Amino acid sequence: MSTTKKKLEELRRKVESINLEILRNLNERAKIAEKIKTIKQQLGLPLHDPEREQQMLQEIVEKNTGPFDNAFLVRIFKEIFRASLGHMESETRDQMIVSIKSDSVKSFFDVGLARIGKEKIVIAGPCAVESEEQMDKAAKGLSEIGIKILRGGAFKPRTSPYSFQGLGVEGLRILHEAARRYSMAVITEVMDTRMVEKVALWSDILQIGARNMYNYDLLREVGRAGKPVFLKRGLSATLDELLWSAEYIALEGERRIILCDRGVRTFTRETRNTLDISSVPVLKTMTKLPVFVDISHAAGRRDILCSLAAAALAAGADGIMVEVHPCPEVALSDSSQQLSIAQFGEMIENLRSRGLLPPLKSIVSLTAPTGKRERKIEEIFETGVES
Ligand code: PEP
Ligand code: MN
Repeated sequence: MSTTKKKLEELRRKVESINLEILRNLNERAKIAEKIKTIKQQLGLPLHDPEREQQMLQEIVEKNTGPFDNAFLVRIFKEIFRASLGHMESETRDQMIVSIKSDSVKSFFDVGLARIGKEKIVIAGPCAVESEEQMDKAAKGLSEIGIKILRGGAFKPRTSPYSFQGLGVEGLRILHEAARRYSMAVITEVMDTRMVEKVALWSDILQIGARNMYNYDLLREVGRAGKPVFLKRGLSATLDELLWSAEYIALEGERRIILCDRGVRTFTRETRNTLDISSVPVLKTMTKLPVFVDISHAAGRRDILCSLAAAALAAGADGIMVEVHPCPEVALSDSSQQLSIAQFGEMIENLRSRGLLPPLKSIVSLTAPTGKRERKIEEIFETGVES
């Protein structure tokens, strides 16, 4: 080997050894950064300290003897600082209450007769509560099909302030009475922090609508209400953001949280939203919380609902939400996406025959209008619910 080649080999070995030294130093630095993080958390100090970062960069520039220029070094060191912070962030993500790594959320819980997480659940009912008669017809028809959770909006988040806004508190009463008449649990949306307590009196599950997924005050308030929460994915929310919203609820104490995808906004015009079916298995890798899919608001049309329901259940969803109205043609909201009770019954039959939903179990004794039924209902639903 020529002396020049020998020199080259020697220099290459030096470079390799410096690489390893940089690697050791970088990892050593990351370990120290973690220790700093622990102390900062104990002291209640913010993890990111821009002033301190500025001082460290200043020192690097002052001590720089070249050949790298200052701008280049500042860029490199900023990357190193960011990586340490990023590492800290990923650690906090693992420490989330709702993280897959945590066992402190509820993967299974009962709401009335529904065993969430244990069996595939179908939540059904009209888009909005409109009248006593409408809700009685809905509750009767749906309970006969074996549905255990009745939905209906009393407070409606409408795009136009001139559209039907819901019956408000009167709607809560109508919904609750109709549901209990047929031994069903109630889910309804709460839109305002000032109404959480009231809605929690009448509803077994509190729904946070897509438009309110980022309403952190509302999330905190429902987290304190003592009722399970049904959290919908925002119109253009990432799954990460959905999980952080769930974390707000969990942090206040409520560990019975159901995540619900209802489609996101894309360029597709043929459906109201685009159902992100992959969110179901992806969420299952991120959290132990039950995951549902609202097929009606995803589709915005009734003719493709059976396929979307099958897809959601096959993808591993713990349940689906479907809008059903005794007379969809005259519905005051979302008329074109609601199924009639007969159409809904056909869909459920189809899903049951394909093994995607459990067979109809007899709940006749619970729906029979006898004194026994009354006692049963009180046993099934916790007290504290007005009736
Ligand atoms: C609803 O379920 O009534 C509703 C308004 O849905 P979303 O919040 O998903 O639009
Ligand atoms: Mn609707």
